[in-house]
Amino acid sequence: MDKETGHDVTAGIDTANPAGPGKRGCTRREAINRTLAGLAGAAGGGAVVALAARFARDARTTGTLEIFKNDAPTGPLWEAWKQRGWVKEGYHYLKLGKNVQCKVCPNNCILEPGDRSHCRDKINVDGTLYTLAYGNPCSFHVDPVEKKPLFHFLPGSRTFSLATAGCVFRCLNCQNWEISQKTPEQTKNPYGPELRLRPPLPESLGFDDMARLSMFPQDVVALAEWLKCPSVAYTYSDPVAFYEYTYDTCKLARERKVKNILVTCGSIDERALRDLGQYVDAAHVDLKGFDDDTYWKLNAGSLQAILNILKTFKSMGTWIELIHLVVPTYTDKPDMITRMCEWVVKNLGEDQPLHFSRFHPQHKLSHLPPTPVDFLLEARSIARASGLRYAYIGNVRGLADAETTFCPNCKKAIIERDVFRVTRMDLDAGKCKFCNTKIAGVWTA
Ligand code: SF4
Repeated sequence: MDKETGHDVTAGIDTANPAGPGKRGCTRREAINRTLAGLAGAAGGGAVVALAARFARDARTTGTLEIFKNDAPTGPLWEAWKQRGWVKEGYHYLKLGKNVQCKVCPNNCILEPGDRSHCRDKINVDGTLYTLAYGNPCSFHVDPVEKKPLFHFLPGSRTFSLATAGCVFRCLNCQNWEISQKTPEQTKNPYGPELRLRPPLPESLGFDDMARLSMFPQDVVALAEWLKCPSVAYTYSDPVAFYEYTYDTCKLARERKVKNILVTCGSIDERALRDLGQYVDAAHVDLKGFDDDTYWKLNAGSLQAILNILKTFKSMGTWIELIHLVVPTYTDKPDMITRMCEWVVKNLGEDQPLHFSRFHPQHKLSHLPPTPVDFLLEARSIARASGLRYAYIGNVRGLADAETTFCPNCKKAIIERDVFRVTRMDLDAGKCKFCNTKIAGVWTA
């Protein structure tokens, strides 16, 4: 334990996982809008500020732990990256002589000097683990909180959302692979005049500005406040990969009474989660399947690790919402949905919201058809029959009541939504206006 920071930087052997790397898995549900719209517009109502990956570099393999040998930046690039402040020593890792082992997620990457991690964000420089994803988001945007999706957390509010490059998973159906499967150096440029983004925002930013800009934790919180967002969402790729940036920003946001939302695959080591989780108000967690074989094939992840983390979130009192993207031929199995729902009811309770989301062909599964709407309806019926009170269907336009919250007591519609917009809310201080039943969620900032 580092006495100054309180984080786990330890010399020794990892007795919990001496073999090192395990499995992992992930995907983001939100599309990345790459429009370089004016920031002044963002202040007024949600324009997009994002950066597309700039340099071509193919993903090497899928389904196995990737350690990129001798891929750490060196020379002028490394010096420039440090100069920008985009480097930070890792918060949870072991020193194993000159090697290091990251303890943030179950991948537990072991890196020799000069290596780059599976998530592409971490490197070993002379026996010290560093993240390259600090203060350098490649994508940020003001989103409705319903877009995360979170339906029972500050409905109708906007959340300042950001991401860096990199991810701990390798989902075949990743919606945001242009940033999740890239290195920070592929999305950012440390050369040229320094540009730090904080209020007041400039009228507009060019593509090169986007690549150069820094946004440190205090800037993120200041921007969220300036844009009148009651929360910051760490999203699009996966905040577990940019853990140190997320951690520092969450801590500062909590001090300023800005809420924190993690949008994550849930693949994180328990100790790292407990350290970060004390500052997290809500989490949207992807539950990508309900058997290990599918998790491994589809996401290169481990089901049990995610289930353990869901129970940890629950025990910490974090508001969580689950999403299951139904991928044809992989997870469109009624018996699997039944087992999933039964586990959720037993371990997280009947008030646990569960969103079934429609798959659309992309990334490495572009040959598959979209999920049939009939199956999504069947999945929702299974969830309701299992006892879940709040089951939703997402990514389907025009489907009646797909995103409506019903009071579990009087059965009346109390919150109606249409494409990330709350169109009606019959809730009073978190209670149904018709029968006064308490509705699970976080309803006020
Ligand atoms: S966070 Fe990245 S470096 Fe750390 S164990 Fe996970 S994949 Fe490896």
